[in-house]
Amino acid sequence: MGADNSTASADATTGDDALLAVDEVVKAFGGLVAVDGASFDVERESITGLIGPNGAGKSTLFNCITGVHGPESGSVRLNGDEIQGLSPTEVARCGVGRTFQTPKTFRGMTVRENLAFAATNQTGERALGPLLQSGTVRSEEHEVQTRVDETLEFLELDHLADDYGSALSGGQRKLLELGRVLMMDPEIILLDEPVAGVNPSLTDDLLRRLEELNDHGRTILFIEHDMDIVMQHCDRVVVMHNGTTLASGAPDIVQNDERVVEAYLGGYA
Ligand code: ADP
Ligand code: MG
Repeated sequence: MGADNSTASADATTGDDALLAVDEVVKAFGGLVAVDGASFDVERESITGLIGPNGAGKSTLFNCITGVHGPESGSVRLNGDEIQGLSPTEVARCGVGRTFQTPKTFRGMTVRENLAFAATNQTGERALGPLLQSGTVRSEEHEVQTRVDETLEFLELDHLADDYGSALSGGQRKLLELGRVLMMDPEIILLDEPVAGVNPSLTDDLLRRLEELNDHGRTILFIEHDMDIVMQHCDRVVVMHNGTTLASGAPDIVQNDERVVEAYLGGYA
């Protein structure tokens, strides 16, 4: 059968040049094996999409990568260094930012406060380091406020700066969560369904922002189950099904993979 030649296997990736390398990760909840030997690489400065039907194990895999769950086995390397076993805070300090499927913004804080809090309380010196070195006597607080203003402008959230988190729409909250991640100055950004439940115009905004961030050198890995979005915006696609990584490669190749088509029809039919 020559059919497999059309699909890059999960192993046929960039190897040493990968920014993030996930290798044979297994995570079980009691008897349920949610992630069952997932392996894939994320190339530096790529936009990589992680797709798969509901329940495939995508969010659980994100939790394994970011230290929320300790996996049963497997390895997660960032720039060649093992990060599996680190706490979520330590993983963030290494330069891995992530958003959650349900945004974790503070409803009782203003948009501005949410952003400032992310810089000062999550990553400490990593977020502030480069700025503090470049300044002379400028206060840390001033530096944070400058970054907050830049982030508000970049996400076009300026007009909401003094609104409380509780007043935001679901889509605006997702933008704010992205802003909180950006305040940490991550090298790679992991987003769990960033556009789910977001209205179409905000969805386009958000995807444009991600592309812009990528143009400026950030690596992006995002979970999405809308195939069209993934095909349009990703350089590479990784497909998960039943806890394993079924296929990975360029979008057009993956899209036509028999196993992928079957996993999707099986999941949604
Ligand atoms: P996806 O994000 O691809 O939709 P998840 O990673 O959320 O999938 O879930 C994969 C499987 O693991 C599902 O069967 C889900 O019910 C189960 N699962 C996820 N988190 C937990 C948990 N904290 N405890 C028990 N089971 C879980
Ligand atoms: Mg999920």
